[in-house]
Amino acid sequence: MRGPRRRWTAADQIFFEKQEREMREKSEARDVKPALTKPHLSKSQLGMLFRCGIQYEYAYVKGERRPPGIAALRGRAAHTAIEADLRSKQATGELLPDEQIRDLARDAVHDAFARDDVTLHPEDGEPKKARAATVDEAVKCAAAHHEQRAPEIEPIWIERPFRIEIPGIAHDLRGYIDLQEANSITDTKTSAKPPKKDAADVSEQLTLYALAAFVLDKTLPAVALDTITVGKRGTTVARQESVRTRDDLDVELRRIARASAVIEKGAFVPTNPDNWCCSARWCGWHSVCPYARRRVSIAV
Ligand code: SF4
Repeated sequence: MRGPRRRWTAADQIFFEKQEREMREKSEARDVKPALTKPHLSKSQLGMLFRCGIQYEYAYVKGERRPPGIAALRGRAAHTAIEADLRSKQATGELLPDEQIRDLARDAVHDAFARDDVTLHPEDGEPKKARAATVDEAVKCAAAHHEQRAPEIEPIWIERPFRIEIPGIAHDLRGYIDLQEANSITDTKTSAKPPKKDAADVSEQLTLYALAAFVLDKTLPAVALDTITVGKRGTTVARQESVRTRDDLDVELRRIARASAVIEKGAFVPTNPDNWCCSARWCGWHSVCPYARRRVSIAV
């Protein structure tokens, strides 16, 4: 007996259009593929636009970028060491020596400070101490991944690049899949707190990775989030696994289409002033943004 027919999704359409385009290109036997001329959207652009349209406008329309804060720098430095560790495993079957992992994370923090590529806030304390604390945390994160997670990982792709043309949308989707193994894709994050129970289920980044993998490989892999947390009792790596369906991909495509339309129109909306990100601590444009609510003190 035949089962119910599966609903045709927008993700299917992109996949089959891509297949058709590839077949057409092959049959035309041209050496040079047409240049991709559309602007692109990345996960960080989408994340910023969904968080606050005005932040997006400052960063990507006016080009007024701000260096990352301490938390982002810690993650970036740990990521540098983790990537090198996994590339070594992929190339030689062996992880890097412990000492090299620590050096890579430490040097990435020092390099960022030397280039002034970090934003410090009064809450971060005295710059020398903030720098030392960031080195300490980045090294702990990289070392924890090296000891607890990296031995189990069999990488097929590390930082796999993708650029996806979405029919009817003014922007391509572009980015890198953090880590791809035989049956799963993983995003690795550092965090000051343990992840929420549903962190992998609701991660938009994992949905974007799943969409990219579906278009590139024609299958939907499982997704996972590795969260490295520096705690008082030690540094841990929590792995949370999840799945994405084609309906999830369709929701994501609708979100990307709406984001693209907002950018085309320049209709950027400020976030709610109560939002955590709308503060001097978390928004680099807070001091100049006309939509920011300033704190008011009343003397009693
Ligand atoms: S201050 Fe608030 S409204 Fe202004 S850019 Fe930052 S987050 Fe957006």
